[in-house]
Order: sequence, then C-alpha cells, then structure tokens
Amino acid sequence: MRCSNDNRDDRLYDLVVVGASFAGLIAARAAAHRGLKVAVLDAKTEPGARVRTTGILVKEAVAECDIPSTLTRKIPGVRLYAPNHQSMDLFAPGYYFLATDTPAIMRWLAREASRAGADLLFGARFDTATLADDFVHLHGLDLKARYLLGADGAKSRVAKTFGLGRNTEFLIGMETEFEESPTVDPDFLHCFVDASLAPGYLGWVVPGVGLTQAGLAVSDGPFGMKRKPDFDSFLKRIDSHFALWNCEVKAKRSGPIPCGGLVHPLSTRRVLLTGDAAGLVSPLTAGGIRLAFQYGRRAGAAISEYLQDGGADPGALMAREYPGFGLKSWMRRAWSAAPPNALLNATLFTPPMRALAQWIYFQKRGSGECSTRALNARPAQR
Ligand SMILES: Cc1cc2nc3c(=O)[nH]c(=O)nc-3n(C[C@H](O)[C@H](O)[C@H](O)COP(=O)(O)OP(=O)(O)OC[C@H]3O[C@@H](n4cnc5c(N)ncnc54)[C@H](O)[C@@H]3O)c2cc1C
Repeated sequence: MRCSNDNRDDRLYDLVVVGASFAGLIAARAAAHRGLKVAVLDAKTEPGARVRTTGILVKEAVAECDIPSTLTRKIPGVRLYAPNHQSMDLFAPGYYFLATDTPAIMRWLAREASRAGADLLFGARFDTATLADDFVHLHGLDLKARYLLGADGAKSRVAKTFGLGRNTEFLIGMETEFEESPTVDPDFLHCFVDASLAPGYLGWVVPGVGLTQAGLAVSDGPFGMKRKPDFDSFLKRIDSHFALWNCEVKAKRSGPIPCGGLVHPLSTRRVLLTGDAAGLVSPLTAGGIRLAFQYGRRAGAAISEYLQDGGADPGALMAREYPGFGLKSWMRRAWSAAPPNALLNATLFTPPMRALAQWIYFQKRGSGECSTRALNARPAQR
C-alpha cells in the first residue's frame, strides 16, 4: 500500500531518489517497504552498468542488507607490503572482508527495490529541479516529488542544483580487472604502501569473484598539488609478486572518491543528500559502501516517517546521525602528505605501526592468526 493519496497522478511520487547505486537503491527499498510511492532515477541504462568501484565490503556491510553469499567471496586477511617488498599479514579473529561481483550486487539491489514497490527509471538523467508548493519539480523528466533524495555520487548534481554542500577533496582511483590469476593468494587483500606510486593512499590486488582486481588511488598533495595514478608503473612494481601482465584484461575503471568528510549543508527543505553525495566515505580507508548502505537505509526510513507520520525533519535528523570522521580526517591529512618510502621501509614493521595498521583495517576487533580455508567452504548439502 502506498501513502500518497494522489496516486491518480502517475508522475507524482512521495520520494524520488536520484542514483540507483548502493545508497539510492537501499534507501528506495526502505521507503517503499514503508509504503511510500518511490521512483529511483539513474542516468545509466541498466543496473550494474559502468561500475566504478572495487566493491570490497567490510563484514558489517552484509549485516546491513543480507547480500546473498553467492555474490561474494570472503577474504580473511590483509597482506601489507612496504615499498621494499617486505610484507606482514594482519588478521582479526572471526573477521573478514568480502570481494564482490559488483554488477550482480547492483542487479540484486535493483530487484530488491523493485520488489518492495519502487519504480526504477534507468536512462533518466537528473538535470535540474525546483521546489514549489511543497513539491520538488524535476524539469525535463516531468516528475514531481514530495521529497528528493540525492544519492547521485561524488559529484552530485542534486547538491549543485539546490546549493547544498559539495565534495571538494578526492582520491582518484583507477583499477583493472583481469582474468583470475593463480599467482594471487586468495586469503589476502594485498595492499601496497608506496609514496611514489600511490601517494596518499595504496595500491591493491584483490582476489575477486572469478577474477583478479588490481588498482591504486592517489590523493592530491599539499597546497592542492595535483597527482595522477600511474597504473602501468604500479603493475611493474608488483610484477615480482603477481604475473598480471600475462592475464587477459576484462574491464577498466576509474573515478573520484570523496575524502574530505561530510558536506555542509546536507539538506534543504524537502531535499537530502546521502552516500558519496553527502561525503559519507571514510577519509582514511576510502570505503563508502557500508556507509551508503547504513545511512541510505536510515535516510529512506527517516523520509518515510516524516511524510507519513509527521516525524522529524530528515535533514536535521541525518545531520545528527551521519558520522563526523574527526580523527580519520586528521589521519587522512597526514597520509596525504605521503611520508617518503625510506621512512615507510624503516617504520612499517615496528610494533606501533603494526598496531596502527591493525586498527585501520580491523578497528577494535583484536589481532590473531587465522586458519582460513574453511571460510569459503560451501555449506553441507541437505
Ligand atoms: C576506483 C574506486 C574503488 C573503490 N573501492 C571501494 C571499495 O572497495 N570498498 C568501498 O567500500 N568503497 C569503495 N569505493 C567507494 C565506493 O564506490 C562509493 O563510496 C560508493 O559507490 C558510494 O555509493 P553511492 O550509492 O553513494 O554512489 P555511487 O555508487 O557513485 O552511485 C551514484 C549513482 O548516481 C548516478 N547518477 C549520478 N549523477 C546522476 C544524474 N545527474 N542523474 C541520474 N543519475 C545520476 C550514477 O550513474 C550512479 O549510478 C571506491 C571508489 C572508487 C572510485
């Protein structure tokens, strides 16, 4: 059942969500489940097209929306490599990351939102809109909404249109997907610290779902100094560990990752931002998918309560609930300064740096050894 009593007008929605990705689809599902008439727009022609992310999930992300295990692959450990090629292994008991078949997850999320009752409009680009008489009018799309949720990513058009806060600091990520390589130990996310190749972030090799992903991201330097990822040099750098040169390339992608923390303001009357559009990305790890799930769902629920039950203003509510990233933003600034490789080689394996790395990857979950082969074992057949 839908709450709008003006359902005679097909173009009128309670909620229009711009962006059919992690944040937008989960928000749409939450709102549609609660009875709102919801539409989700995306400029892409279909769900799962032109994926821009590596798609690594932390364990908690799955708890947010119960992603089918067939679309993921558990990775229990992190192998962290210094510029001099030495490495250390990090684990936490019972913890794991998940590599994902990201296009398949997008299609699954789209089905979930659609099953909940949301209308999915692909090939529909949001350009501009105005608020009049408590309705948001989306020009060019001939749509009208009682509420608009901008889940349209790092360079949000919704934020621009309504004069909301916009991301200004970015990492630039670049990744290639290769056919699955047997040279990559599947029990680890392989992470490469290197101030000359990946200043301000890392390079990575991920044993993905039926393929191998390799990429790197860089931050801008101090005083706005521009940096660009150099994927070919990274591939040469890791050649002694993984023979990816010989593997067939399946796909390439790149994109900006907001790393400056929450944007301000997050909302105006009847319009709210979530996901990357709101700056909901950990400035330190650059992970945004779990936050997109967690706060996308909260935003969808808060908008439903506001429209149906006279609940609190969703913008004010989310401004209190969205995380602030205080310490992580400071650590991001320090890492963006790109400490030189000689210093990294000398310090990375000292106990304090090991403890810091353990905290960054596993937070307070303790450290330990992990015998991992059982993690990806199939459950017994009944
Ligand atoms: C190279 C790279 C690797 C990454 N790896 C990871 C990782 O491993 N783990 C992790 O947690 N995070 C990772 N991130 C970050 C993560 O991808 C984002 O935080 C996450 O995708 C945010 O989801 P979202 O739904 O907010 O926005 P997005 O996934 O960016 O989706 C925005 C959607 O809005 C649509 N859109 C945009 N403008 C319009 C418009 N005008 N009209 C209609 N539709 C529009 C787009 O087509 C898109 O579908 C990575 C990012 C990059 C760039």
